[in-house]
Amino acid sequence: MSRTVFLNGEFVKEEDARISAFDRGFLFADAVYEVTSVRAGKLLDFDGHMDRLERSLGELELNYKLDCMEMLEWQRELVRINEIKEGIVYLQISRGAADRSFKYPGPDVQPTVFMFTQTHAHVNPADPEVGIRVTTIDDLRWGRRDIKTVQLLYPSMAKMAASKSGFDDAFLVEDGQVTEGTACNAFIVTQSGSIVTRQLSRDILHGITRAAVLRYAREAQMQIEERSFSVKEAQESAEAFITSASNYVMPVVDIDGVKIGTGRPGTVARRLREIYLEESLKAAK
Ligand code: PLP
Repeated sequence: MSRTVFLNGEFVKEEDARISAFDRGFLFADAVYEVTSVRAGKLLDFDGHMDRLERSLGELELNYKLDCMEMLEWQRELVRINEIKEGIVYLQISRGAADRSFKYPGPDVQPTVFMFTQTHAHVNPADPEVGIRVTTIDDLRWGRRDIKTVQLLYPSMAKMAASKSGFDDAFLVEDGQVTEGTACNAFIVTQSGSIVTRQLSRDILHGITRAAVLRYAREAQMQIEERSFSVKEAQESAEAFITSASNYVMPVVDIDGVKIGTGRPGTVARRLREIYLEESLKAAK
C-alpha cells in the first residue's frame, strides 16, 4: 500500500511527490533532517527534535521559518493518515532548487520540506533482550557532526563494513576515543556503576534520546560522567549501550569480539530503557 507523504505543505501519495533534480539536498547534501519516534501513535521528544532542527537550520543559514505548532499538526496528521502506531516520522528540509553553485542561492529560493512515516517493522531495530554486537571503525566524518545534515555516506559505509564483518553496528573512533555510533550515541557503565557518555561538542550529534536518558538517569540519582572513553575502557566496562530515536536504549553486549560484562544486556541499560519508554510516552505529543 502506498504511503501518504508530506511535501511543501501538501499531503500527497508517495508516487506523486515530485522534487526538482536541481534540489540542493540532491546535489550538495544541503539539507537537515530529524527522525522522531512514534509510540502508541504519539510523537516522542517532539520539542527536543524541534529545538535541534532550529539549531541545524541556523548553523547552515538555511532560510526556513520553523513554526513548531504547525509542524506538530503536520506530523500528527501524517501519523494519523498512515495509521502509524509504532514507527518514525522522517522530516527533511533542504535549501531548495537552484542553479548549481557552491554559494548559497538568494532568499527567493524556497526550501523543500519533505516528510514521510515508516512503521517500526521497517525501521528494524534489534531485540533489546539480546542486545547488539559492535565493531570499531575510524571516524572519518567531517568536523561538524553536531549539525544533523543528510550527508550520511560515511556512516552508511561504516554500517555496511560492520555488517560485512558480522556485526550489528560500529562505534566510531577518533584519537583512540569513541565518538559515537554510526547513527546513535554511545554509552558505557563503569565497574563502579557510573554512566559515561562523550561530552557535547562538534564531534558528535547532540542526541535527543541521549539528553532525555541523561535527564531521567539524573532524576533517578544515577551517577553520570560526560567525558570521552577509549575502546579498551569500553571493552572492560560493566555494560555498554546506545541511544537513538529508532533504538531508544539498546544494550551492547560485545565490542570487537570482546564480551561486555556477562555478554548479556546489563541491568542499568535495561532499567534506563524501561524508564525512557515510560517517561517519554507520558510526555509524548
Ligand atoms: N548520533 C548520530 C550520528 C546519529 O545519526 C543519531 C541519530 O540519527 C544519533 C546520534 C542519535 O540521535 P537521536 O537520539 O536524536 O536520534
